[in-house]
Amino acid sequence: MSAVGLEVVPCPYCGSRTNTVWATELGFTTARCTDCDFLFLNPRPSDADRSTATQMGVHMAADGLDISERYMPSKTQRYIPILREQFGSQFAKSGPISWVDIGAGYGETMDAVSSVAPAGSTVIGVEPMHPKASAARARGLQIYEQPLGPGIPVCDYASLIDVFSHINDFDGFLQNVRLLLKDGGEFFMETGHLDGRVPRDDFPGVLGSPDHVSFATDRHVKGFLERNGFEVLSVRLDPIDGWMFTIKNVIKKAMGRDVRVQRPFASRYRTMFVRARKLAN
Ligand SMILES: [Zn+2]
Repeated sequence: MSAVGLEVVPCPYCGSRTNTVWATELGFTTARCTDCDFLFLNPRPSDADRSTATQMGVHMAADGLDISERYMPSKTQRYIPILREQFGSQFAKSGPISWVDIGAGYGETMDAVSSVAPAGSTVIGVEPMHPKASAARARGLQIYEQPLGPGIPVCDYASLIDVFSHINDFDGFLQNVRLLLKDGGEFFMETGHLDGRVPRDDFPGVLGSPDHVSFATDRHVKGFLERNGFEVLSVRLDPIDGWMFTIKNVIKKAMGRDVRVQRPFASRYRTMFVRARKLAN
């Protein structure tokens, strides 16, 4: 990616223009907001440049092609128990529901929702990258190959799995999510739990610069949601650096990738699941 289109930005969470260097990766700086500890790429690629890159269907963080960029049925198996824990009792009492997965990729999360949701439910996905959208369609999934906006049916539930860190303007994004949800509808998201109070070396992987432009804690995500008309229902934090994670990082390290190998469960980094309800206007 060329330097053209890079923009210096204030903190996307609190608007402060005071920040310090927290980490550098592939020539990009992740800044720490001095006022709220939010972590964000600064300067960062503008949305105009990024949408072009996104349409190419390639992971642009070039420490090689991301080996996770393919259809992975194991992801479906991972999300089935998570969704069952989060929504199982609610689904047991409800009739068919409608669910939209935003940034659906190859559709693994959609498959997990379909297997947990009540019979007769509708599960759709939004995926603007053509190779992923067509691969998901080939498996019979209903995919809207477009950015968030008009044309996508309004649903009872919306999910955003591992997408938060790619979003420059999360306030604007949440306003678009509101348009996709019925009043009282639920929003479910997963992202990493990290802010500037945690030293860089405590995060046991690559940051994914410049694709990953933001990192937040539950405090930031709650703030974003509440100021955009959502009520937070629950937050769950899971360690990610168990034995499998450590073994994978040892392999990546052996392949020459820039990862940190630590003993399992040493990191304060967490995976965060947040569930929120859309409040009526
Ligand atoms: Zn800030």
